[in-house]
Amino acid sequence: MSDAVTRFYLDQLPEAQLKNNTLHAPCPFCGGRDGREANLVVFLQPDSFFHGYFRCAEGCAASGFPLHFARLRGTRLAQVPGYDPDREYFGREVDYPVRNLNNELAGFSDKLTAESAARLHGAAITARTLAELRVGHNGRYLVYPYVQPDGNCYAARCVHPERPEDFFWYGDERFFAPEYRVFNAPEIDRCENGTLFVVEGEENLLCLKQLGLPGVAVPAAADLEHLDPRRFEWIGTLFLWVGHNAESAALARVFATRAGFKVRIVRWPENAPKNASLHSLATEQPEAFQQRVFALIREARAFSPFPSPAGEFHTFTERLAQEAGEGWAGLTTGFARLDRALGGLHGLNILGGTPK
Ligand SMILES: [Zn+2]
Repeated sequence: MSDAVTRFYLDQLPEAQLKNNTLHAPCPFCGGRDGREANLVVFLQPDSFFHGYFRCAEGCAASGFPLHFARLRGTRLAQVPGYDPDREYFGREVDYPVRNLNNELAGFSDKLTAESAARLHGAAITARTLAELRVGHNGRYLVYPYVQPDGNCYAARCVHPERPEDFFWYGDERFFAPEYRVFNAPEIDRCENGTLFVVEGEENLLCLKQLGLPGVAVPAAADLEHLDPRRFEWIGTLFLWVGHNAESAALARVFATRAGFKVRIVRWPENAPKNASLHSLATEQPEAFQQRVFALIREARAFSPFPSPAGEFHTFTERLAQEAGEGWAGLTTGFARLDRALGGLHGLNILGGTPK
């Protein structure tokens, strides 16, 4: 008997074929358009973090989990496994201005050339991924639009194409504020009940998006301090991936402590170069990139401010070993049958009234 999510997709996509935990079907969002047969892929593996994650091979619609699929398709949400009509979504009560940068973004996208995006193409990020995240160029700087949950862009971060430390904010000043600094924010809703990555730096998110993974970015690890974990309330698992340096790692831990057990911090291997990032990994080892990313994701453990069960067990057995000694041998209770049953006295339990 298949699980609810698998049954939901099989019901929604009657022509689908299940092969190796992956469902293949003609894409219901773009299929038939221009006479093309685009393939929709749904990843189905109940014990995986990406169970129910769908993706159109043509990239016609943004990927996501079952609730996003149903919203795109106009399916009744009550049919979707995991739907909860009583949910409230943090951060929706914002009065957005009438004026936005949407039209300007199209102009910036047109100005993006192979030369201005050389640093990104060097990390194997394709023009399609850049178009999906509406990355542009203003003539001198790369323009990363900070699209808000309402789907509009009011502010963008302009970053020098070669020197990421050289940047400025552009647009409506109100949206330069720390609480609005989430790049690709609409992805949070698309991943409801599913898994999402939070990374440091837009270019690092682009590297993950290139692999088809869902995520958002903060401009720098320091911005994690202003990121309210309630925004991720309905995300099942949050992978947090920052650069390989002590400061970012410390900021990631502080955020994870606030967000709780749903966070899995992706750890860099001991031998990774200092300040390694997804971008540097993709630039230096493009062939091995995908494999290394998935290996590190598999190793990421759920975050807990407490010692792990394995650690607790180790401490407990060590203490027992230290406390064990010859001292107890030969002690008897004085009750012959009790001594025979228990093999002597091993400790004291007070039964009956409360200890005094
Ligand atoms: Zn499609």
